Amino acid sequence: MSRILIVEDETAIAELEKDYLELSGFDVTIENTGDKGLKAALSEDFDLIVLDLMLPMIDGYEICRKVREKKDIPIIMVSAKKEDIDKIRGLGIGADDYMTKPFSPSELVARVKAHLARYERLVGSSIKANEIIEIRGIKIDKTARRVFVNGEEKAFTTKEFDLLTFLAENPNHVFTKEELFNKIWDMESFSQNDIATVTVHIKKIREKVELNTSKPQYIETIWGVGYRFKV
Ligand code: CA
Repeated sequence: MSRILIVEDETAIAELEKDYLELSGFDVTIENTGDKGLKAALSEDFDLIVLDLMLPMIDGYEICRKVREKKDIPIIMVSAKKEDIDKIRGLGIGADDYMTKPFSPSELVARVKAHLARYERLVGSSIKANEIIEIRGIKIDKTARRVFVNGEEKAFTTKEFDLLTFLAENPNHVFTKEELFNKIWDMESFSQNDIATVTVHIKKIREKVELNTSKPQYIETIWGVGYRFKV
C-alpha cells in the first residue's frame, strides 16, 4: 500500500484530502506544521508528499528543497494563491506538480495516482531486482549466485549451485540421475562415474542446506528413480 504524507495546516482541507485518498486505498498521514512535516518526510518512508506552501514554522518551499536533497519521491505542492504557485514553479525547486486551492479531492487523487505510477515506472526501469527463489528457509539469489539457508550464506561450487537451482525451479518434479547429469553437466553420454558425480553433488548440497542429512526436508531421494525438491 502506498504511503502518502499530507503537510497542511488547515485541518478541514487535510482531513478531506485524507478521506479521499484513503478511499482510493492509500495509507495517509497528516502533519500540520512545517517542522513536523519536514521531520516526517525525511525520517519515514513515504511514497508521495502533498505539500502546502504556507505553513507554520517552516514553509513548503523550504521543505520541498530539503526533501529533494535526500529523496526523489513525487511532491505535489498546493497553495491558495495562484501567484505563489507561478512563482515557485519558476524557481524550479523540484516539485513534480502544483495545484491551486480550492481543488476537487478527486482531482488530487487522480494526480497522486498518475505521479505514483510514473515514479514506479522510473524506479522499476533503473533498478532491476535480482531474481530470487525462496522456498521455506532457502533463498537462492540467481542473479548474484548466492545461497542463504535460514539467513546464513553458504558457499556453493558452480555445479552444486546449478543443481540446487535447477531442482528448486522444478519443485516436486522427480528427476533421474541421468536427467540431472545431462541438464547440469550438459553432456549427452554418461558413464557410471558420471552418475556417481550427481550423487556426490547431492550429498554436498544436503550437507549445506539440510538440518539432518539423513532426513532431508528439501532434496528427497525417490528410491530407484532419482531426486526431487520437495515443497
Ligand atoms: Ca497553509
